[in-house]
Amino acid sequence: MNFPSSINSKLPAVGTTIFTTMSALAKEHNAINLSQGFPDFNPHPVLIEEMQKAMRGSFNQYAAMAGYLPLRETIAAKVESMYSIAVDPEMEITITAGGTQAIFTAILSVVRENDEVILFAPAYDSYAPAIELSGGKAIYYDLEAPDYKVNWQNVKKLITQRTKMIIINTPHNPSGTVLNAFDMQQLDKLTRGTDIVILSDEVYEHIIFDGIEHQSVLRFPKLAERSFVVNSFGKTYHATGWKVGYCIAPKNLMTEFRKVHQFNVFSVNSIAQVAFNEILKRKDLYLELNGFYQQKRDYFQRAIQSSRFKLLKCEGTYFQLAAYSKISDERDIEFVRRMTKDMGVAAIPVSVFYRHQIDNSVVRFCFAKGEETLKRAAELITKM
Ligand code: GLN
Repeated sequence: MNFPSSINSKLPAVGTTIFTTMSALAKEHNAINLSQGFPDFNPHPVLIEEMQKAMRGSFNQYAAMAGYLPLRETIAAKVESMYSIAVDPEMEITITAGGTQAIFTAILSVVRENDEVILFAPAYDSYAPAIELSGGKAIYYDLEAPDYKVNWQNVKKLITQRTKMIIINTPHNPSGTVLNAFDMQQLDKLTRGTDIVILSDEVYEHIIFDGIEHQSVLRFPKLAERSFVVNSFGKTYHATGWKVGYCIAPKNLMTEFRKVHQFNVFSVNSIAQVAFNEILKRKDLYLELNGFYQQKRDYFQRAIQSSRFKLLKCEGTYFQLAAYSKISDERDIEFVRRMTKDMGVAAIPVSVFYRHQIDNSVVRFCFAKGEETLKRAAELITKM
């Protein structure tokens, strides 16, 4: 028997995420995988060592629901030293099973039926489904290639009585742009005197280039008062598979966040939290990440400079956008499939991050790879 005979899907328009799809295609065709964003090198030996120590020690049972307290205390100290804001580790920080879970939980905990949530496309693909499952409506602001800049006067026009939340992401995946202090001031202006909550996805906090300062909402006290800030250890410590991140929010928002969190994941992998606590105390290790990835960006850009791709500006993240209109007039989805199958390199088509699949003939390459991988990929890319 087939029961139920038909399923009325809660997410009818959603298929498998592009990251899973492209990584599978890369594997099938043995292509170099510059699609899904993850490093092809291992975490720092200190992190692995600390994980092993924690496992042999007495950290194998449930962590506290909100996360291992010493880790929350280390996060609070770090945030205070970087952004001059006092965050209460008891009430205002929760450790999550990665950035995506933090995003989902933050949205689910405040968005209700018919609420509107403004997001900037190209938008990370988990935002809209989380909004829809909460009964809300995603309101898209389309950023335009090649510079993907926000015009805040136009954002203002999207705000209505129903606007519950605005989601920002800086440094921005996939465009590689960053919001500057002026952008943050405009956001502050737009939201002053309203009940709009901000969800600030800052998972690429430590991957920002050319001396640009990361403008966390935490630097702006009036924004911090209304914000969920999401971060990820996976990005900072080359451990995307460990799936640990965190969320910072003022007590009233965090109380609601935890009501959802406790019945969704309850608590996060204990030994990884112990290990991240040890490595997070080493300021030098997260501060040197900008330089580490800037070198990779520069290496990759130089290596494909002579190709027919036009490289877009990359101010942060480990993604490089490239326009391919001199190579092909195929749709980007078709183009990346053919690249993967016939030319040996997998990338992400940027149109999938827009509601109406706006196609600017732009693809995203991940350069979080060892030099050997980047070199081999660049050889193939310059032949296209
Ligand atoms: N954040 C990563 C990217 O943009 C992938 C995350 C995922 O695969 N879910 O590629």
